[in-house]
Amino acid sequence: MSPLKDLFDGSGPIARSGEGYCFRSGQLKLAEAILEALSQQQILLAEAGTGVGKTFAYLVPLMLASGKSIISTATRHLQDQLYERDLPRIKFALGVSLQTAVLKGRANYLCLYRLDRAREQGRFQRPDDAHLFSQIVTFSGLTSTGDIAECSAVPEQSPVWAMATSTRENCLGQSCPQFSECFLIKARQRAAEADLLVVNHHLLCADMALRDEGFGELLPSADHVVIDEAHALPEIATEFFSQSVSTQALSGLARDSLAVGLEHARDAASWPDLCGAVERSIMEMRSALTERPDRDIGASAAGPHSRMGWDQLSAKEQQRWTDLLQGIGVALLALREVLSLNADRHAELARLAAFSLELHQRLEAFQTHEPAAMDVRWMEFSRYGITLRRTPYEIAARFQEEINRQPKSWILLSATLAIAGRFDHFQRRLGLEHAKTLIAESPFDFQRQGLLLVPHPLPDPKRPDHISQVLQQPGILELLEAVKGGIFLLCTSHRAVGHASQWATQWAAAHPQRLILVQGQAPRPALIEQFRSHGAALLIGSHSFWEGVDVPGEALSLVLIDKLPFAPPDDPVLQARLRWCEAQGVDSFSALQVPEAAILLKQGVGRLIRSESDRGLVVIADRRLAETGYGRRMLRSLPNFARTREIGQAVQWLQADPHGPQPLSLTQPSPEFES
Ligand code: SF4
Repeated sequence: MSPLKDLFDGSGPIARSGEGYCFRSGQLKLAEAILEALSQQQILLAEAGTGVGKTFAYLVPLMLASGKSIISTATRHLQDQLYERDLPRIKFALGVSLQTAVLKGRANYLCLYRLDRAREQGRFQRPDDAHLFSQIVTFSGLTSTGDIAECSAVPEQSPVWAMATSTRENCLGQSCPQFSECFLIKARQRAAEADLLVVNHHLLCADMALRDEGFGELLPSADHVVIDEAHALPEIATEFFSQSVSTQALSGLARDSLAVGLEHARDAASWPDLCGAVERSIMEMRSALTERPDRDIGASAAGPHSRMGWDQLSAKEQQRWTDLLQGIGVALLALREVLSLNADRHAELARLAAFSLELHQRLEAFQTHEPAAMDVRWMEFSRYGITLRRTPYEIAARFQEEINRQPKSWILLSATLAIAGRFDHFQRRLGLEHAKTLIAESPFDFQRQGLLLVPHPLPDPKRPDHISQVLQQPGILELLEAVKGGIFLLCTSHRAVGHASQWATQWAAAHPQRLILVQGQAPRPALIEQFRSHGAALLIGSHSFWEGVDVPGEALSLVLIDKLPFAPPDDPVLQARLRWCEAQGVDSFSALQVPEAAILLKQGVGRLIRSESDRGLVVIADRRLAETGYGRRMLRSLPNFARTREIGQAVQWLQADPHGPQPLSLTQPSPEFES
């Protein structure tokens, strides 16, 4: 008999350890597969449908297994939730005395050295900063972990944190006068000693890709690695396997060098001239952008960021940029030389010398064309500046190499890994073709709890004003009025968010009971909290709201998706991946674009039903879902909701008694959805 059966029983120790637990066969099946994978050092890919309870399904086997474990979650918020809520509960239920720790990236810990320096300098850019800074100083005297998430008086995204946290480039390491008190160093020591460590994907990938977070190596010491929300891993790993250099970093180097040079080596050189040359080169780069009005910083219709591949530049433009980059290289080299010559005069000068060398190497790497490298060179523009990147378009070999480096078990889980029951796409992306796979079905009764509407007729989804057209379709307003609870309007672009929010302003005038929330009005967690507590709000957002949002109950009753979430075709990294796919004789649309859109769509739709008692409607305003072969393939990946193409039926369904029988017309699948 399975050693897990008693633990997961409806009256077992987990059930007795707290509220809200009930036995779910899918959870036990998943836990048993994980226990086996841990004991045999296997690689397991598991999809756990919503409500399976995947967190307990991996925590229990991990606590029973011998050896050191790492759990990686997608975000810091999930990391805290796991560490503060789920992990102590299972530890208590099982009566185990494991040493556990949580570790985040360095930007999450107060840096005592930089805090002291900022206090001495006392210069603030914004009027509010002095007050916020004083709150951080008070926090520094009270905290035992230095985790900035504990400092509720200062918002996490406040720019003032940059004065009190470190980066890899500005940390003095062992030369730091605060080294023995450093919160980051202490957190890393606790992590090294823990039996079970909770990290996030960014930290895991930094460790995997660069091993340069200054911490040494997380992965080599682990016997088991569990990657939760694993669907997010390929994107994050790609980012960390990239090399980049930004005007922000160059500007920071010039600024710090000027201040430190004047303070500790005033006689060594004309620091204003040296640093000014770097700043001037950056200005020239920025002004080169204005020669292409479509790429003006911050002016992109696609949102706050705009991307351009090096290959998309004309020969003349490439030459212009090559000259600009060489100009920066020369200024950087001159600065580096003086910093290196004076490195022994102060630890800060040594640190800046090393940083200038690294930036120079990254700049050189960007300019070197290596056809065999399987990467793409591109530039990103935002209101903060320009970033030059070299990104691999294929990470399978690199990831596989890491997995094979040392024998250990790898468990990758998510609610969205498979497409129409198959894991091929995810397996290919990470080189995990030989991994074991498992699907643990959701315990929810989607046929009864949810309805999927693809209205008929619908405008062409390729129109730039598609969402505005959708919201003007006959019957849509009546449908929205029939929804008593909250509404999520998930858009595929920032432009669509803009159009939808214009429409919502007018709509709200006639519906004062609705609270309208739009992405960007406030930080994401604050918007979600307002949405949750209001109970009948309308939230309009793009990609960051498609996943990781959990609003059970009537507070989220309708999810409206503007169209199928295909990645923007002009993205230089996607273009390189498509070209690579085609070069191998594979149809890139079916092999790459459709599966990736299917996973994202599944995430978006997955916001709706979060518990056994939830009931709600999903509207996908894209006729391709019902009318094309690839659309129907994506449809097969979604929860098995009742379906209709008639708005009237959806209104009827919303108004029906949730405990009564399903409207007769919905008990059979609509023939228009059948392939
Ligand atoms: S060691 Fe680095 S992070 Fe720690 S206090 Fe010093 S500068 Fe800050």
